[in-house]
Amino acid sequence: MQLHQTSDTSPDGMGTPTGDSVRGDEITIAYQPIVRGAAVAVLGYFLFDLTTRLIFPGDSHHGVMLIAVSLASLVSLGVMRHLRRPQNARQLEISGGILCLTLFVNSNLQQSLYFETENLIYAILMMPIFAAILPRRRTAAVAVILCFASLIAQVHQNLPAQLADYIWTGVSGVVAGISVALIIRTAVLNAVKARLEAVRDRETAEALAREAKHLAECDALTGLPNRRSFFLALNERMERLREHGEPFVLALVDLDGFKPINDTYGHAAGDEMLETVAERLTVAGGKDAMPARLGGDEFALLACIDPCTAETALSLGQRVESSLAEPYALGPYTCKAGGSVGLLICKDPELSVQDLMERADHALYFAKRALRGKAVLFNAALEQEMTASSQVDKALRRSDREAEFEVYFQPQFDVVKSRITGFEALARWHSPELGAVTPDVFIPAAERAGLIRPLTRTLLGKALDAMSAWPEEIRLSFNLSTHDLMSPNAIEDILKTVAASGIRPDRIEFEITETAMMGDFKQARHAIGRISQAGHSVALDDFGVGYSSLRYLQQLPVTTLKIDHSFVADILAETSSFKIVRTLLSLSRTLGLGCVVEGVESEAQLHILRGMGARHVQGYLIDPPMRADAVAGALARNRDFSPQALSRPVAAGYGTA
Ligand code: C2E
Ligand code: CA
Ligand code: CA
Repeated sequence: MQLHQTSDTSPDGMGTPTGDSVRGDEITIAYQPIVRGAAVAVLGYFLFDLTTRLIFPGDSHHGVMLIAVSLASLVSLGVMRHLRRPQNARQLEISGGILCLTLFVNSNLQQSLYFETENLIYAILMMPIFAAILPRRRTAAVAVILCFASLIAQVHQNLPAQLADYIWTGVSGVVAGISVALIIRTAVLNAVKARLEAVRDRETAEALAREAKHLAECDALTGLPNRRSFFLALNERMERLREHGEPFVLALVDLDGFKPINDTYGHAAGDEMLETVAERLTVAGGKDAMPARLGGDEFALLACIDPCTAETALSLGQRVESSLAEPYALGPYTCKAGGSVGLLICKDPELSVQDLMERADHALYFAKRALRGKAVLFNAALEQEMTASSQVDKALRRSDREAEFEVYFQPQFDVVKSRITGFEALARWHSPELGAVTPDVFIPAAERAGLIRPLTRTLLGKALDAMSAWPEEIRLSFNLSTHDLMSPNAIEDILKTVAASGIRPDRIEFEITETAMMGDFKQARHAIGRISQAGHSVALDDFGVGYSSLRYLQQLPVTTLKIDHSFVADILAETSSFKIVRTLLSLSRTLGLGCVVEGVESEAQLHILRGMGARHVQGYLIDPPMRADAVAGALARNRDFSPQALSRPVAAGYGTA
C-alpha cells in the first residue's frame, strides 16, 4: 500500500486530483485517527512510567531514565497535538515513525542500562504495535525487522544460551506484526473503498442533478436561459425593485422574417439563425443583461442599466435591433432578417410580472405593427392604447356575436362594363358598451383573444345569407384572417359552410394578406391550395405594402391582386405611388392575374387609373360599404364612370361606412 501526498494532481497539471491520489488521501484520512490513538496510548504509557519512577525511585540509572521517559512523554504529547490537524501521507508517516522510535529508543536504553529478561517481552510486543501504527508497508517492515534485530542483539549479549528459543519467539513476533498490519490495512482499505464508492455515487447523482437542472433551465438549442428561468429571474428582479428600488429594463424581441427563412432554407438553417441571434443578443445586452429564449423566434432581455432612463433603454434596444439586422451566414446562404424590440423600464414596484409582460408585449406589438425592425419603448400613449384595447378584449369576450356583429358590403366595379361585379364583405361591430368599433381594432383583438374563428364563422354565415338574394353573376369577396388560414380545421370548416350554402364556389373569392405567408408558409400554401381546389378564387389583399414577394405569386394559386388604397390616395401627388400602381397593374397583366384597385375616392384618381389600364376598382367614389339591404338598390342604380361622364358631378353614395 502506497500513500501519496495530498497535493498530488493529475498528470495534465490542471490541478484535478487523479483517482490514485484521491484513494491515497482517503487512506491518509482513515489512518490519522489510528496514529493519533497510538500517540495517546504511548503518552499514557510514558506518563504512567514517569509516575512510577517518581514514586519509586530506584537504581543508579534512575536520573537518566527519568530524563529519557520525560523526553519521550513530551515527544508523544507533541505528536498527539500535531495530529489534531489534517496531515498528508508523509507527515503522518513521520509522526508514526517518531512515536515508534521513541518507544524503541526508550526500551533499548533501559535494557542497555540494566538488562532484565522479562523486559524482552517489550521488544516482541513492539513488533505488532509498530506494524499497526506505521501507515506505509515499507516503514512497518523496517520497524519490525529493527525490533527483531534488537531482540536478538539483547539476547545474544545477555542470554546467549537461549538465543535459539528467542529467535523463535522473535519470529512469532514478526508474524504477529505482519498479521496485525494486514488486518488493519485490509480494514482501512475496505473502509476507504466503501467511502470512495459513496463519494462516486454522490458525484454521479450530483452530475445527473446538474444536467437535469441545465435541461430544465436552459434552452437546448441556444443554451440561453429558457422561459421558465426567465420568469424566475424576472420575479427576482421585481423583488429587488420592491426591496431596494433598483429599476431595470425588460426587452422582448421578436424576429422578423424567421419563418420564411426556416421554410425556404430548412430547419438546420433556422436553427443556425436562432443560435446566431442568441449570440448577438448576448453581446448586444452586455455583461449586465440576461438574454433568454422564450420559445420559437421570441427572445427577451433583462438588463440593469445605470442610469435607467428612456435614452439608455432605447440605446440598448437600438443596439439589439441593429445587431439583429446584420446579415446571417446560414451554411451556403447569406440571409437578411431583423427583429422588433419592445422595451419597458420597470420601475413601478406596484406592477405584477404579468403587468410588465403585457406592457413590454404591447410595445413589441406596436414595434411590429408600425415600425417593423425598430425598438419601441413603452410610454404613456401606448399605455392608453393598451387600456383601450384591453377594454375591447373584454367587451369582445362578452359580446353576443349574432346580435352585435353585422356585415357591410362594398361594391367592386368594372369600369369597362360600367357595372358592379361583386361586393367585398366588411365586418362591423356595434358594441353596447363601446359603441361602433372599427374592424382594424376588433379583428386584431379577436385574433389575440383566440376568438377569430367563431367570429369568421358568424360573419361568413351572415355574408352568405345576404348573398343568397343577389343575382347569379354578382360575386362576394370575403376577408380571411391569418389565424383562419393557419388552422387546417378552420379552413375545412369555412369550406363546408360555403358548400352547405349551395352557392356556386366560383362566385366566392377569399381575400388573404401576406402576413399569412410570413408566418408558416407551408400551412398557408396548403390552406390556399384547399380553397382553390374547392373552386374559389383567392385575392392577395393590400398588395404593395409589406413584402409583396413575387415568390408568393408564383408558388400560390392566387388569382387576383388588390392594390392597397394607400398608393391610390397619393397617386396624384406622389410620383412614387403613381409608378408603384402602374408597375403593379402591369405585373398583374403579365402574370395573367385579376387586379382590383382599392380606395378610389375621386374621379381624378379614377381617370389616372383608367389611363394605366385599371379595370376593377373599389372605393367611396363608387360606394362606401353599405348594409345588406342596400345592395339591391346599389345594383339597380345606373352609374356611368365613362371618360365622357367623368366631368359630371357624382351622386351621393348609399349606406354608411
Ligand atoms: P381591407 O380588407 O383592406 O378593406 C378595405 C378597407 O378600406 C375597409 O375598411 C373599407 O371600408 C375601406 N375603404 C373602402 N373604400 C375606401 C376609400 O375609398 N378610401 C379609404 N380610405 N378607405 C376605403 P374597414 O371596413 O374599416 O376594414 C378595415 C380592415 O379590416 C379591412 O381592410 C380588413 O383587413 C379588415 N376586415 C374588415 N372586415 C373583415 C372581416 O370580415 N374579416 C377579416 N378577417 N378582416 C376584416
Ligand atoms: Ca380586403
Ligand atoms: Ca385591402
